[in-house]
Amino acid sequence: MVEAKNFIEDIINEELAEGKVTTVHTRFPPEPNGYLHVGHAKSLCLNFGTAEKYGGVCNLFFDDTNPSKEKTEYVDAIKKDIEWLGFKWYEVHYASDFFDDIFNLAVKLIKDGKAYVCDLSAEEIRLTRGTLTEPGIESPYRNRSAEENLELFLAMRDGKFADGEKVLRAKIDMASPNINLRDPVIYRVLRATHHRTGDKWCVYPMYDFAHPICDSMQGVTHSICTLEFEDHRPLYNWVVENTGVTHKPRQIEFARLNITNTVMSKRYLKKLVEDGAVWGWDDPRMPTLTGLRNRGIPAEALKNFCEEIGVAKANSEIEVAYFEHFTRDYLNIEAERAMAVLDPVKVILTNYPEGKSEKLNFDINPNKPELGAREITISREIYIDREDFSVCPPPKYFRLKKDGYVRLKNAYIVKCDDYLADEDGNVTEIYCSYVPESHSGNDNSGIKCKGTIHWVDANNCRPITARKFDYLLKDAEYPGQDFAERMNYDSVHEFSALAEPYLFEAEEGKCFQLLRTGYYKRSNEKGASLNEIVSLKDGYKK
Ligand code: ATP
Ligand code: MG
Repeated sequence: MVEAKNFIEDIINEELAEGKVTTVHTRFPPEPNGYLHVGHAKSLCLNFGTAEKYGGVCNLFFDDTNPSKEKTEYVDAIKKDIEWLGFKWYEVHYASDFFDDIFNLAVKLIKDGKAYVCDLSAEEIRLTRGTLTEPGIESPYRNRSAEENLELFLAMRDGKFADGEKVLRAKIDMASPNINLRDPVIYRVLRATHHRTGDKWCVYPMYDFAHPICDSMQGVTHSICTLEFEDHRPLYNWVVENTGVTHKPRQIEFARLNITNTVMSKRYLKKLVEDGAVWGWDDPRMPTLTGLRNRGIPAEALKNFCEEIGVAKANSEIEVAYFEHFTRDYLNIEAERAMAVLDPVKVILTNYPEGKSEKLNFDINPNKPELGAREITISREIYIDREDFSVCPPPKYFRLKKDGYVRLKNAYIVKCDDYLADEDGNVTEIYCSYVPESHSGNDNSGIKCKGTIHWVDANNCRPITARKFDYLLKDAEYPGQDFAERMNYDSVHEFSALAEPYLFEAEEGKCFQLLRTGYYKRSNEKGASLNEIVSLKDGYKK
Protein backbone atom coordinates (compact mmCIF):
# COMPACT_ATOMS: atom_id res chain seq x y z
CA MET A 1 0.00 0.00 0.00
CA VAL A 2 1.41 3.36 -0.94
CA GLU A 3 0.95 6.43 1.20
CA ALA A 4 -1.67 8.70 -0.36
CA LYS A 5 -0.57 12.26 -1.10
CA ASN A 6 -3.85 13.52 -2.52
CA PHE A 7 -7.54 12.67 -2.73
CA ILE A 8 -7.07 10.72 -5.97
CA GLU A 9 -4.61 8.41 -4.27
CA ASP A 10 -7.03 8.09 -1.35
CA ILE A 11 -9.64 6.85 -3.81
CA ILE A 12 -7.22 4.44 -5.44
CA ASN A 13 -6.03 3.06 -2.10
CA GLU A 14 -9.62 2.46 -1.07
CA GLU A 15 -10.44 0.70 -4.33
CA LEU A 16 -7.33 -1.44 -4.09
CA ALA A 17 -8.20 -2.38 -0.51
CA GLU A 18 -11.74 -3.30 -1.51
CA GLY A 19 -10.51 -5.23 -4.52
CA LYS A 20 -12.42 -2.98 -6.93
CA VAL A 21 -9.26 -2.51 -8.97
CA THR A 22 -6.02 -4.46 -9.05
CA THR A 23 -3.93 -2.13 -11.24
CA VAL A 24 -3.80 1.54 -12.11
CA HIS A 25 -4.06 2.48 -15.77
CA THR A 26 -4.41 6.16 -16.62
CA ARG A 27 -4.25 8.17 -19.82
CA PHE A 28 -3.29 11.69 -20.79
CA PRO A 29 -5.99 12.79 -23.26
CA PRO A 30 -5.04 15.94 -25.23
CA GLU A 31 -7.03 17.14 -28.16
CA PRO A 32 -4.48 17.73 -30.96
CA ASN A 33 -5.78 21.22 -31.70
CA GLY A 34 -2.86 23.22 -30.34
CA TYR A 35 0.32 23.03 -28.30
CA LEU A 36 0.46 21.85 -24.71
CA HIS A 37 0.81 24.44 -21.99
CA VAL A 38 1.88 24.41 -18.35
CA GLY A 39 -1.65 23.37 -17.30
CA HIS A 40 -1.17 20.22 -19.33
CA ALA A 41 2.10 19.62 -17.51
CA LYS A 42 0.05 19.40 -14.32
CA SER A 43 -2.23 16.82 -15.92
CA LEU A 44 0.77 14.94 -17.34
CA CYS A 45 2.49 14.78 -13.97
CA LEU A 46 -0.72 13.60 -12.36
CA ASN A 47 -1.55 10.91 -14.93
CA PHE A 48 1.96 9.60 -15.42
CA GLY A 49 2.92 10.13 -11.80
CA THR A 50 -0.09 8.28 -10.38
CA ALA A 51 0.39 5.32 -12.71
CA GLU A 52 4.07 5.12 -11.89
CA LYS A 53 3.48 5.36 -8.16
CA TYR A 54 1.22 2.31 -8.29
CA GLY A 55 3.38 0.37 -10.72
CA GLY A 56 0.78 0.87 -13.43
CA VAL A 57 0.85 2.41 -16.89
CA CYS A 58 -0.32 5.57 -18.62
CA ASN A 59 -1.41 5.85 -22.24
CA LEU A 60 -1.15 8.81 -24.52
CA PHE A 61 -4.62 9.24 -25.92
CA PHE A 62 -5.40 11.75 -28.65
CA ASP A 63 -8.95 12.91 -28.38
CA ASP A 64 -9.47 13.64 -32.07
CA THR A 65 -13.23 13.74 -32.40
CA ASN A 66 -13.26 17.34 -33.71
CA PRO A 67 -11.73 16.92 -37.18
CA SER A 68 -11.93 20.53 -38.27
CA LYS A 69 -9.47 21.78 -35.63
CA GLU A 70 -7.00 18.93 -35.38
CA LYS A 71 -3.68 18.54 -37.13
CA THR A 72 -0.77 16.09 -37.31
CA GLU A 73 1.56 19.02 -36.55
CA TYR A 74 -0.03 19.20 -33.09
CA VAL A 75 0.18 15.44 -32.57
CA ASP A 76 3.92 15.54 -33.24
CA ALA A 77 4.45 18.60 -31.04
CA ILE A 78 2.54 17.01 -28.16
CA LYS A 79 4.66 13.86 -28.31
CA LYS A 80 7.83 15.93 -28.31
CA ASP A 81 6.69 17.91 -25.27
CA ILE A 82 5.87 14.75 -23.32
CA GLU A 83 9.26 13.27 -24.17
CA TRP A 84 10.91 16.47 -23.00
CA LEU A 85 9.28 16.03 -19.60
CA GLY A 86 10.70 12.53 -19.55
CA PHE A 87 7.42 10.61 -19.43
CA LYS A 88 7.09 7.31 -21.27
CA TRP A 89 3.65 6.37 -22.43
CA TYR A 90 2.57 2.75 -22.49
CA GLU A 91 0.50 2.85 -25.69
CA VAL A 92 -0.59 5.63 -28.01
CA HIS A 93 -4.21 5.64 -29.09
CA TYR A 94 -6.45 7.97 -30.98
CA ALA A 95 -10.20 8.28 -30.55
CA SER A 96 -10.28 7.85 -34.32
CA ASP A 97 -8.83 4.33 -33.95
CA PHE A 98 -12.06 3.46 -32.19
CA PHE A 99 -14.51 5.12 -34.59
CA ASP A 100 -15.81 1.72 -35.76
CA ASP A 101 -16.32 0.47 -32.19
CA ILE A 102 -17.96 3.70 -31.15
CA PHE A 103 -20.27 3.57 -34.17
CA ASN A 104 -21.20 -0.04 -33.40
CA LEU A 105 -22.01 0.84 -29.79
CA ALA A 106 -24.25 3.65 -31.03
CA VAL A 107 -26.03 1.07 -33.18
CA LYS A 108 -26.39 -1.12 -30.10
CA LEU A 109 -27.99 1.74 -28.16
CA ILE A 110 -30.42 2.30 -31.03
CA LYS A 111 -31.37 -1.38 -31.11
CA ASP A 112 -31.88 -1.30 -27.35
CA GLY A 113 -34.19 1.69 -27.70
CA LYS A 114 -31.68 3.96 -25.92
CA ALA A 115 -30.84 6.36 -28.73
CA TYR A 116 -32.83 8.06 -31.45
CA VAL A 117 -32.28 10.14 -34.54
CA CYS A 118 -33.55 13.67 -34.02
CA ASP A 119 -34.36 16.17 -36.78
CA LEU A 120 -34.38 19.24 -34.56
CA SER A 121 -31.79 21.87 -35.40
CA ALA A 122 -28.98 22.66 -32.95
CA GLU A 123 -30.87 25.82 -32.01
CA GLU A 124 -34.13 23.94 -31.40
CA ILE A 125 -32.33 21.40 -29.27
CA ARG A 126 -30.85 24.18 -27.20
CA LEU A 127 -34.22 25.88 -26.77
CA THR A 128 -35.97 22.67 -25.69
CA ARG A 129 -33.28 21.63 -23.24
CA GLY A 130 -34.88 23.49 -20.34
CA THR A 131 -33.06 25.30 -17.58
CA LEU A 132 -31.75 24.54 -14.12
CA THR A 133 -35.25 25.14 -12.74
CA GLU A 134 -37.38 23.86 -15.63
CA PRO A 135 -37.35 20.45 -17.27
CA GLY A 136 -36.67 20.14 -20.97
CA ILE A 137 -39.26 19.39 -23.66
CA GLU A 138 -39.19 16.00 -25.32
CA SER A 139 -38.33 15.97 -28.99
CA PRO A 140 -41.17 15.04 -31.36
CA TYR A 141 -38.72 12.47 -32.82
CA ARG A 142 -38.07 10.80 -29.50
CA ASN A 143 -40.36 7.88 -30.03
CA ARG A 144 -39.24 6.71 -33.44
CA SER A 145 -39.02 2.93 -33.67
CA ALA A 146 -35.65 1.24 -33.34
CA GLU A 147 -35.92 0.10 -36.98
CA GLU A 148 -36.53 3.62 -38.23
CA ASN A 149 -33.72 5.01 -36.05
CA LEU A 150 -31.31 2.42 -37.32
CA GLU A 151 -32.20 3.09 -40.93
CA LEU A 152 -31.80 6.85 -40.42
CA PHE A 153 -28.52 6.50 -38.53
CA LEU A 154 -27.04 4.34 -41.29
CA ALA A 155 -28.27 6.92 -43.81
CA MET A 156 -26.52 9.61 -41.75
CA ARG A 157 -23.31 7.61 -41.97
CA ASP A 158 -23.83 7.09 -45.72
CA GLY A 159 -23.95 10.81 -46.37
CA LYS A 160 -27.66 11.05 -47.13
CA PHE A 161 -28.12 14.14 -44.97
CA ALA A 162 -26.59 17.57 -44.86
CA ASP A 163 -24.39 18.69 -41.95
CA GLY A 164 -26.57 19.44 -38.94
CA GLU A 165 -29.72 18.05 -40.57
CA LYS A 166 -29.96 15.13 -38.18
CA VAL A 167 -28.24 14.04 -34.98
CA LEU A 168 -28.27 10.93 -32.86
CA ARG A 169 -29.33 11.56 -29.25
CA ALA A 170 -29.15 9.32 -26.22
CA LYS A 171 -32.64 8.71 -24.85
CA ILE A 172 -32.16 9.39 -21.17
CA ASP A 173 -34.36 11.86 -19.30
CA MET A 174 -35.54 15.29 -20.43
CA ALA A 175 -36.52 16.08 -16.85
CA SER A 176 -33.21 15.12 -15.27
CA PRO A 177 -31.88 17.74 -12.85
CA ASN A 178 -28.57 17.27 -14.68
CA ILE A 179 -28.90 19.01 -18.04
CA ASN A 180 -26.20 16.79 -19.52
CA LEU A 181 -28.60 13.86 -19.19
CA ARG A 182 -31.40 15.56 -21.12
CA ASP A 183 -31.05 13.46 -24.26
CA PRO A 184 -27.54 14.65 -25.17
CA VAL A 185 -26.41 14.57 -28.77
CA ILE A 186 -23.96 11.68 -29.23
CA TYR A 187 -23.36 11.74 -33.01
CA ARG A 188 -23.47 14.49 -35.59
CA VAL A 189 -23.21 14.76 -39.36
CA LEU A 190 -20.09 16.70 -40.21
CA ARG A 191 -18.27 16.81 -43.51
CA ALA A 192 -14.71 17.51 -42.55
CA THR A 193 -11.51 15.80 -43.56
CA HIS A 194 -10.05 14.11 -40.51
CA HIS A 195 -6.27 14.28 -40.08
CA ARG A 196 -6.14 10.50 -39.73
CA THR A 197 -9.30 8.96 -41.20
CA GLY A 198 -9.51 11.38 -44.13
CA ASP A 199 -12.98 11.41 -45.69
CA LYS A 200 -13.99 7.97 -44.48
CA TRP A 201 -16.55 9.36 -42.07
CA CYS A 202 -19.16 12.08 -42.34
CA VAL A 203 -20.53 11.34 -38.88
CA TYR A 204 -18.46 11.91 -35.77
CA PRO A 205 -19.17 10.99 -32.15
CA MET A 206 -19.39 13.71 -29.51
CA TYR A 207 -16.71 13.84 -26.83
CA ASP A 208 -19.06 12.75 -24.02
CA PHE A 209 -19.96 9.59 -25.90
CA ALA A 210 -16.55 8.76 -27.34
CA HIS A 211 -14.44 9.38 -24.27
CA PRO A 212 -15.83 6.75 -21.86
CA ILE A 213 -15.84 4.17 -24.65
CA CYS A 214 -12.22 4.91 -25.57
CA ASP A 215 -11.20 4.79 -21.91
CA SER A 216 -12.88 1.43 -21.57
CA MET A 217 -11.36 0.02 -24.78
CA GLN A 218 -7.89 0.97 -23.58
CA GLY A 219 -8.37 -0.64 -20.18
CA VAL A 220 -8.16 2.70 -18.37
CA THR A 221 -9.06 2.31 -14.70
CA HIS A 222 -8.96 5.97 -13.64
CA SER A 223 -9.96 8.64 -16.10
CA ILE A 224 -8.58 11.81 -14.55
CA CYS A 225 -9.96 15.06 -15.91
CA THR A 226 -10.55 18.64 -14.86
CA LEU A 227 -13.45 19.95 -12.80
CA GLU A 228 -15.56 21.25 -15.64
CA PHE A 229 -16.35 17.61 -16.44
CA GLU A 230 -17.81 16.91 -13.01
CA ASP A 231 -21.36 17.51 -14.27
CA HIS A 232 -20.63 15.19 -17.17
CA ARG A 233 -19.73 12.28 -14.94
CA PRO A 234 -23.32 10.92 -14.75
CA LEU A 235 -23.34 10.84 -18.56
CA TYR A 236 -19.91 9.18 -18.59
CA ASN A 237 -21.30 6.50 -16.29
CA TRP A 238 -24.50 6.20 -18.31
CA VAL A 239 -22.47 5.50 -21.46
CA VAL A 240 -20.30 2.94 -19.67
CA GLU A 241 -23.39 1.17 -18.26
CA ASN A 242 -25.68 1.34 -21.28
CA THR A 243 -23.28 0.50 -24.07
CA GLY A 244 -22.45 -2.63 -22.09
CA VAL A 245 -18.69 -2.25 -22.42
CA THR A 246 -17.07 -4.88 -20.24
CA HIS A 247 -14.32 -2.80 -18.72
CA LYS A 248 -15.66 -0.01 -16.49
CA PRO A 249 -13.36 2.97 -15.90
CA ARG A 250 -13.98 5.61 -13.25
CA GLN A 251 -13.84 9.34 -13.90
CA ILE A 252 -12.21 11.53 -11.24
CA GLU A 253 -12.04 15.31 -11.50
CA PHE A 254 -9.41 17.72 -10.15
CA ALA A 255 -8.95 21.49 -10.30
CA ARG A 256 -7.29 23.08 -13.33
CA LEU A 257 -4.02 24.82 -12.79
CA ASN A 258 -4.20 28.58 -13.28
CA ILE A 259 -1.22 30.91 -12.95
CA THR A 260 -1.29 34.69 -12.60
CA ASN A 261 -0.05 36.85 -15.50
CA THR A 262 -0.51 34.08 -17.98
CA VAL A 263 -3.30 32.34 -19.81
CA MET A 264 -3.94 28.65 -20.05
CA SER A 265 -6.13 28.07 -23.03
CA LYS A 266 -4.99 26.64 -26.33
CA ARG A 267 -7.56 28.73 -28.11
CA TYR A 268 -6.25 32.02 -26.73
CA LEU A 269 -2.61 31.01 -27.16
CA LYS A 270 -3.37 30.18 -30.77
CA LYS A 271 -4.83 33.63 -31.22
CA LEU A 272 -1.62 35.20 -29.89
CA VAL A 273 0.34 33.24 -32.47
CA GLU A 274 -2.06 34.01 -35.31
CA ASP A 275 -2.20 37.71 -34.45
CA GLY A 276 1.59 37.89 -34.45
CA ALA A 277 1.57 39.09 -30.85
CA VAL A 278 4.36 36.58 -30.12
CA TRP A 279 7.12 35.05 -32.25
CA GLY A 280 5.39 31.70 -32.44
CA TRP A 281 4.17 28.81 -30.30
CA ASP A 282 7.68 28.50 -28.87
CA ASP A 283 8.11 32.17 -28.02
CA PRO A 284 9.99 32.24 -24.69
CA ARG A 285 7.18 34.31 -23.17
CA MET A 286 4.56 31.69 -24.01
CA PRO A 287 3.29 29.31 -21.31
CA THR A 288 3.35 26.50 -23.86
CA LEU A 289 5.72 23.65 -23.04
CA THR A 290 7.65 24.39 -26.22
CA GLY A 291 7.84 28.03 -25.10
CA LEU A 292 9.05 27.09 -21.62
CA ARG A 293 11.63 24.77 -23.13
CA ASN A 294 12.81 27.51 -25.43
CA ARG A 295 12.90 29.89 -22.49
CA GLY A 296 15.28 27.53 -20.74
CA ILE A 297 12.94 26.31 -18.00
CA PRO A 298 14.33 22.94 -16.94
CA ALA A 299 11.88 20.04 -17.23
CA GLU A 300 12.82 19.02 -13.69
CA ALA A 301 11.91 22.45 -12.31
CA LEU A 302 8.53 22.27 -14.01
CA LYS A 303 7.89 18.81 -12.59
CA ASN A 304 8.95 19.91 -9.10
CA PHE A 305 6.48 22.76 -9.33
CA CYS A 306 3.64 20.46 -10.40
CA GLU A 307 4.48 18.10 -7.56
CA GLU A 308 4.61 20.85 -4.93
CA ILE A 309 1.33 22.56 -5.83
CA GLY A 310 -0.45 19.28 -5.21
CA VAL A 311 -3.86 18.21 -6.45
CA ALA A 312 -6.89 20.24 -5.46
CA LYS A 313 -10.63 19.85 -5.74
CA ALA A 314 -11.28 23.59 -5.95
CA ASN A 315 -10.05 25.99 -8.60
CA SER A 316 -7.49 28.57 -7.58
CA GLU A 317 -4.72 30.67 -9.06
CA ILE A 318 -1.02 30.14 -8.37
CA GLU A 319 1.32 33.11 -8.27
CA VAL A 320 3.66 33.21 -11.24
CA ALA A 321 6.46 34.04 -8.78
CA TYR A 322 5.94 30.64 -7.17
CA PHE A 323 6.39 28.96 -10.54
CA GLU A 324 9.59 30.93 -11.20
CA HIS A 325 10.91 30.02 -7.78
CA PHE A 326 11.39 26.38 -8.87
CA THR A 327 13.40 27.34 -11.93
CA ARG A 328 15.62 29.63 -9.91
CA ASP A 329 16.15 26.98 -7.26
CA TYR A 330 17.10 24.44 -9.87
CA LEU A 331 19.40 26.68 -11.90
CA ASN A 332 21.08 28.05 -8.81
CA ILE A 333 22.43 24.56 -8.22
CA GLU A 334 22.90 23.47 -11.83
CA ALA A 335 23.83 26.47 -13.96
CA GLU A 336 27.39 27.48 -14.73
CA ARG A 337 28.33 31.04 -13.87
CA ALA A 338 29.55 33.53 -16.44
CA MET A 339 29.87 37.28 -16.90
CA ALA A 340 28.22 39.66 -19.31
CA VAL A 341 27.40 43.34 -19.01
CA LEU A 342 24.02 44.39 -20.35
CA ASP A 343 24.62 48.12 -20.40
CA PRO A 344 28.39 48.47 -20.81
CA VAL A 345 30.54 51.41 -19.82
CA LYS A 346 34.30 51.35 -20.34
CA VAL A 347 36.72 51.31 -17.43
CA ILE A 348 40.43 52.02 -17.95
CA LEU A 349 42.79 50.61 -15.38
CA THR A 350 45.31 53.40 -15.73
CA ASN A 351 48.12 51.69 -13.83
CA TYR A 352 47.72 48.39 -15.68
CA PRO A 353 50.49 47.89 -18.26
CA GLU A 354 49.43 48.53 -21.82
CA GLY A 355 49.40 45.44 -24.03
CA LYS A 356 49.39 43.08 -21.06
CA SER A 357 46.79 40.32 -20.75
CA GLU A 358 46.61 38.18 -17.64
CA LYS A 359 44.89 34.87 -16.96
CA LEU A 360 42.63 34.51 -13.93
CA ASN A 361 40.65 31.64 -12.47
CA PHE A 362 36.90 31.85 -12.53
CA ASP A 363 34.72 29.47 -10.47
CA ILE A 364 32.52 27.49 -12.84
CA ASN A 365 29.81 26.93 -10.26
CA PRO A 366 30.32 27.58 -6.55
CA ASN A 367 27.52 25.10 -5.83
CA LYS A 368 29.49 22.41 -7.62
CA PRO A 369 33.06 22.91 -6.43
CA GLU A 370 34.05 19.66 -8.13
CA LEU A 371 33.76 21.48 -11.47
CA GLY A 372 36.67 23.68 -10.48
CA ALA A 373 37.58 26.83 -12.32
CA ARG A 374 38.07 27.98 -15.89
CA GLU A 375 40.31 30.71 -17.27
CA ILE A 376 39.27 34.26 -17.91
CA THR A 377 41.48 37.20 -18.81
CA ILE A 378 41.88 40.79 -17.74
CA SER A 379 43.67 43.67 -19.43
CA ARG A 380 43.97 47.44 -19.20
CA GLU A 381 40.45 48.08 -20.50
CA ILE A 382 37.35 46.40 -19.23
CA TYR A 383 33.60 47.01 -19.24
CA ILE A 384 31.27 47.12 -16.29
CA ASP A 385 27.52 47.63 -16.06
CA ARG A 386 26.45 51.27 -16.02
CA GLU A 387 24.32 50.45 -12.98
CA ASP A 388 27.44 49.60 -11.03
CA PHE A 389 28.82 53.14 -11.11
CA SER A 390 27.25 56.13 -9.44
CA VAL A 391 28.10 59.78 -9.84
CA CYS A 392 25.96 60.77 -6.86
CA PRO A 393 25.93 57.61 -4.78
CA PRO A 394 23.19 57.18 -2.17
CA PRO A 395 24.28 56.17 1.35
CA LYS A 396 25.54 52.59 1.65
CA TYR A 397 26.39 52.42 -2.03
CA PHE A 398 28.97 49.63 -2.21
CA ARG A 399 29.51 49.58 -5.93
CA LEU A 400 31.87 51.87 -7.83
CA LYS A 401 31.98 55.59 -7.03
CA LYS A 402 34.63 58.26 -7.28
CA ASP A 403 37.40 57.63 -4.71
CA GLY A 404 35.72 54.38 -3.72
CA TYR A 405 36.99 50.80 -3.87
CA VAL A 406 35.24 47.82 -5.38
CA ARG A 407 36.33 44.27 -6.19
CA LEU A 408 36.15 43.00 -9.74
CA LYS A 409 34.84 39.46 -9.46
CA ASN A 410 37.64 36.89 -9.43
CA ALA A 411 40.20 39.64 -10.19
CA TYR A 412 41.41 42.74 -8.36
CA ILE A 413 40.24 45.55 -6.18
CA VAL A 414 40.06 48.81 -8.10
CA LYS A 415 39.70 52.42 -7.00
CA CYS A 416 37.89 54.97 -9.09
CA ASP A 417 39.99 58.09 -9.63
CA ASP A 418 37.94 59.91 -12.21
CA TYR A 419 35.39 59.62 -14.98
CA LEU A 420 34.25 61.36 -18.16
CA ALA A 421 30.68 62.26 -18.98
CA ASP A 422 29.05 63.67 -22.12
CA GLU A 423 26.95 66.87 -22.31
CA ASP A 424 23.88 65.03 -21.05
CA GLY A 425 25.71 63.77 -18.03
CA ASN A 426 26.03 60.18 -19.28
CA VAL A 427 29.22 58.59 -18.07
CA THR A 428 31.35 57.57 -21.05
CA GLU A 429 34.58 56.40 -19.47
CA ILE A 430 35.76 55.60 -15.97
CA TYR A 431 39.38 55.78 -14.81
CA CYS A 432 40.50 53.43 -12.08
CA SER A 433 43.73 52.25 -10.58
CA TYR A 434 43.93 48.58 -9.70
CA VAL A 435 45.58 47.20 -6.58
CA PRO A 436 48.10 44.54 -7.72
CA GLU A 437 48.32 42.95 -4.21
CA SER A 438 44.56 42.33 -4.13
CA HIS A 439 44.53 39.36 -6.52
CA SER A 440 41.47 37.18 -5.76
CA GLY A 441 42.36 34.24 -3.59
CA ASN A 442 45.67 35.87 -2.65
CA ASP A 443 44.73 39.28 -1.31
CA ASN A 444 47.49 41.01 0.67
CA SER A 445 46.22 44.51 0.11
CA GLY A 446 44.62 44.96 3.51
CA ILE A 447 41.87 46.96 1.80
CA LYS A 448 38.37 46.21 3.00
CA CYS A 449 35.85 46.71 0.28
CA LYS A 450 32.24 45.72 0.59
CA GLY A 451 31.20 45.50 -3.04
CA THR A 452 32.02 43.01 -5.78
CA ILE A 453 30.94 43.67 -9.34
CA HIS A 454 31.04 41.71 -12.57
CA TRP A 455 32.92 42.87 -15.67
CA VAL A 456 34.27 41.70 -19.02
CA ASP A 457 37.68 42.12 -20.65
CA ALA A 458 37.53 44.68 -23.48
CA ASN A 459 40.25 42.72 -25.25
CA ASN A 460 38.11 39.72 -26.05
CA CYS A 461 34.49 40.34 -25.05
CA ARG A 462 31.90 39.86 -27.76
CA PRO A 463 28.79 41.87 -28.60
CA ILE A 464 25.59 39.92 -28.07
CA THR A 465 21.91 40.81 -27.76
CA ALA A 466 20.51 40.25 -24.30
CA ARG A 467 16.77 40.10 -23.76
CA LYS A 468 14.70 40.47 -20.65
CA PHE A 469 11.10 39.35 -20.78
CA ASP A 470 8.09 40.72 -19.04
CA TYR A 471 4.78 38.88 -18.63
CA LEU A 472 2.47 38.64 -21.63
CA LEU A 473 -0.46 39.59 -19.46
CA LYS A 474 -0.76 42.29 -16.88
CA ASP A 475 -2.46 41.55 -13.58
CA ALA A 476 -6.23 41.72 -13.82
CA GLU A 477 -7.65 45.00 -12.56
CA TYR A 478 -11.05 43.48 -11.90
CA PRO A 479 -12.39 39.92 -11.87
CA GLY A 480 -13.16 38.51 -15.27
CA GLN A 481 -11.26 41.20 -17.15
CA ASP A 482 -10.76 40.27 -20.77
CA PHE A 483 -7.35 38.92 -21.83
CA ALA A 484 -7.22 41.31 -24.77
CA GLU A 485 -7.37 44.24 -22.35
CA ARG A 486 -4.64 42.78 -20.21
CA MET A 487 -2.17 42.21 -23.02
CA ASN A 488 1.25 43.66 -22.28
CA TYR A 489 2.61 44.98 -25.57
CA ASP A 490 5.96 45.85 -24.07
CA SER A 491 7.21 42.47 -22.93
CA VAL A 492 10.60 42.19 -24.67
CA HIS A 493 13.48 44.45 -23.66
CA GLU A 494 16.68 44.22 -25.69
CA PHE A 495 20.18 45.21 -24.63
CA SER A 496 23.39 45.53 -26.65
CA ALA A 497 25.42 43.52 -24.20
CA LEU A 498 29.04 42.44 -24.08
CA ALA A 499 29.83 38.89 -23.04
CA GLU A 500 32.96 37.02 -22.16
CA PRO A 501 33.99 34.78 -25.09
CA TYR A 502 33.11 31.59 -23.17
CA LEU A 503 29.50 32.70 -23.09
CA PHE A 504 29.44 33.81 -26.70
CA GLU A 505 30.87 30.52 -27.89
CA ALA A 506 28.65 28.37 -25.65
CA GLU A 507 26.37 25.92 -27.39
CA GLU A 508 22.85 27.02 -28.14
CA GLY A 509 20.46 26.16 -25.32
CA LYS A 510 23.00 26.21 -22.51
CA CYS A 511 21.76 28.00 -19.40
CA PHE A 512 23.91 30.25 -17.24
CA GLN A 513 23.75 32.37 -14.20
CA LEU A 514 25.08 35.71 -15.41
CA LEU A 515 26.65 36.96 -12.23
CA ARG A 516 24.55 39.61 -10.49
CA THR A 517 22.25 39.75 -13.53
CA GLY A 518 20.00 36.72 -13.80
CA TYR A 519 19.62 33.32 -15.38
CA TYR A 520 20.00 33.42 -19.14
CA LYS A 521 19.92 30.95 -21.99
CA ARG A 522 22.36 31.13 -24.86
CA SER A 523 20.27 31.31 -28.01
CA ASN A 524 20.80 31.86 -31.71
CA GLU A 525 17.23 32.88 -32.32
CA LYS A 526 17.25 36.26 -34.08
CA GLY A 527 21.06 36.32 -33.94
CA ALA A 528 23.48 35.52 -31.14
CA SER A 529 21.63 36.24 -27.94
CA LEU A 530 21.23 35.72 -24.24
CA ASN A 531 17.60 35.35 -23.26
CA GLU A 532 16.48 35.79 -19.70
CA ILE A 533 15.03 32.67 -18.13
CA VAL A 534 14.30 34.10 -14.74
CA SER A 535 15.63 36.99 -12.70
CA LEU A 536 18.10 36.48 -9.91
CA LYS A 537 15.87 37.76 -7.17
CA ASP A 538 13.15 35.56 -5.81
CA GLY A 539 9.88 37.46 -5.94
CA TYR A 540 8.05 34.70 -4.14
CA LYS A 541 6.94 35.49 -0.57
CA LYS A 542 6.63 32.25 1.35
P1 ATP B 1 -7.56 24.06 -23.53
O1 ATP B 1 -8.75 24.82 -23.06
O2 ATP B 1 -6.28 24.75 -23.27
O3 ATP B 1 -7.69 23.56 -24.92
P2 ATP B 1 -8.30 21.49 -22.75
O4 ATP B 1 -8.71 21.00 -21.41
O5 ATP B 1 -9.36 21.62 -23.76
O6 ATP B 1 -7.51 22.81 -22.56
P3 ATP B 1 -7.13 19.11 -23.68
O7 ATP B 1 -6.23 18.91 -24.82
O8 ATP B 1 -8.51 18.60 -23.80
O9 ATP B 1 -7.14 20.64 -23.37
O10 ATP B 1 -6.47 18.63 -22.34
C1 ATP B 1 -5.80 17.41 -22.11
C2 ATP B 1 -5.82 17.14 -20.64
O11 ATP B 1 -5.15 18.17 -19.93
C3 ATP B 1 -7.23 17.09 -20.11
O12 ATP B 1 -7.37 16.02 -19.21
C4 ATP B 1 -7.40 18.41 -19.44
O13 ATP B 1 -8.35 18.34 -18.44
C5 ATP B 1 -5.99 18.67 -18.92
N1 ATP B 1 -5.76 20.11 -18.73
C6 ATP B 1 -5.92 21.09 -19.63
N2 ATP B 1 -5.68 22.30 -19.09
C7 ATP B 1 -5.35 22.08 -17.80
C8 ATP B 1 -5.00 22.92 -16.70
N3 ATP B 1 -4.93 24.24 -16.81
N4 ATP B 1 -4.71 22.33 -15.52
C9 ATP B 1 -4.77 21.01 -15.38
N5 ATP B 1 -5.10 20.16 -16.37
C10 ATP B 1 -5.39 20.67 -17.57
MG1 MG C 1 -10.45 20.47 -24.94
